[in-house]
Amino acid sequence: MAQKIQAIRGMNDILPEQTPYWHTLEAILRRLMDSYGYSEIRMPIVEKTQLFKRAVGEVTDIVEKEMYTFEDRNGDSLSLRPEGTASCVRAGIEHGLLYNQEQRLWYMGPMFRHERPQKGRYRQFHQLGVETFGIATADVDAELILMTARLWKELGLADSVRLEINSLGSNEARAAYRDKLVAFLEPIKDQLDEDSQRRLTTNPLRILDSKNPEVQALVKDAPKLSDHLDAESEEHFKQLRRMLDANGIQYDINTNLVRGLDYYNRTVFEWITDKLGAQGTICAGGRYDGLTEQLGGHATTASGFAMGIERIVALMEELAPIEPTLADIYMVALGDAAEINSIQLAEKIRNELPHVRVRSNFGGGNFKKQFKRADKSGAGIALVLGEQEVQEQTIGVKFLREQKEQLQLSQADLVEQLKSLIKQ
Ligand code: ATP
Ligand code: MG
Repeated sequence: MAQKIQAIRGMNDILPEQTPYWHTLEAILRRLMDSYGYSEIRMPIVEKTQLFKRAVGEVTDIVEKEMYTFEDRNGDSLSLRPEGTASCVRAGIEHGLLYNQEQRLWYMGPMFRHERPQKGRYRQFHQLGVETFGIATADVDAELILMTARLWKELGLADSVRLEINSLGSNEARAAYRDKLVAFLEPIKDQLDEDSQRRLTTNPLRILDSKNPEVQALVKDAPKLSDHLDAESEEHFKQLRRMLDANGIQYDINTNLVRGLDYYNRTVFEWITDKLGAQGTICAGGRYDGLTEQLGGHATTASGFAMGIERIVALMEELAPIEPTLADIYMVALGDAAEINSIQLAEKIRNELPHVRVRSNFGGGNFKKQFKRADKSGAGIALVLGEQEVQEQTIGVKFLREQKEQLQLSQADLVEQLKSLIKQ
């Protein structure tokens, strides 16, 4: 036998038994976005490497070590997108969607990061991203949080997630704070881990968000960004909290929440679960008022979030399992004439009842075998045709999940009867 070729590590097939979760989640997400009046945008999966370097930041984990970067045939450096915000802003600038306008956008699709694969952390994963432009006030930040809270409720996950928020203040306030933080950490530099030592010069705020417990203990007494906010950001943050309070949204203020990407300012937030082990952040976002200008557009305020679809699917599988079925009706037919008649009837049902799922039996088999397959399909009803039914133009209706007498109907009445027999 020839040697098997396997998928790339960390890039998953989504198998038929999992796709019902994806379909359910995707359908709910589309409806959710519609219900808030947001429009979908679709961007390419590949962009110029420079875009991510400039947007996400040269010294972030993503750009330093996680990007899939390659040379195009003409020598351009391209990268598989590690996130969607940069592409969305790029597209917005390119098509004139942002300047002096308001946009409320969403997208869904695969992202790529060369990380160490583990549960909840993959090299190809999927995000729903939501981005708003041209709205400076905290009301839109509150709305982004409200729509995610609504999603958890709809998915039956509300009791398993909690919200953390923080404000990163203005760029100036953050720069001033950065100096204070470095002054605090410099004398204890030797006690920091290697990553944090490196970040001390490149991106010191990220040290606050280190997952290493020893580093966490050290930064506990560090000066707090929340004590160094500019007055306007302070007020903005207050507004956000007021709106969350008014809507009964519970949250913790985590003064060490800084997020891994460079472009955030003011509001940042994360939804976290402790049901998934170490990979507990299922949705993260915030305000990024400076990014559009940084990418060559006119200054445009912006705010958004991204959620990790795989992690939400994992939560659904654990907390709100779906019992997927392949069909509502299974067509059982014995003999050549019955098989032909059966296919005709299946087509007729699909014509008249397009939402009903009809699965035909193929490859023959005796009744026992066919009913076994019917049962396995999850269908509630088997429609049974033998020689006699074909001759009399009747059909047997057998209920597979209910204690109900089998019916014998005229084929002419079948569709009308099915309307009341199948719960839609
Ligand atoms: P983490 O701290 O888990 O590495 P992050 O800060 O890198 O997350 P973002 O870039 O903000 O994450 O992405 C938003 C969301 O996308 C995350 O909260 C997570 O749910 C999901 N996500 C990020 N990276 C991965 C990955 N490699 N595999 C699966 N999901 C991911
Ligand atoms: Mg990450």
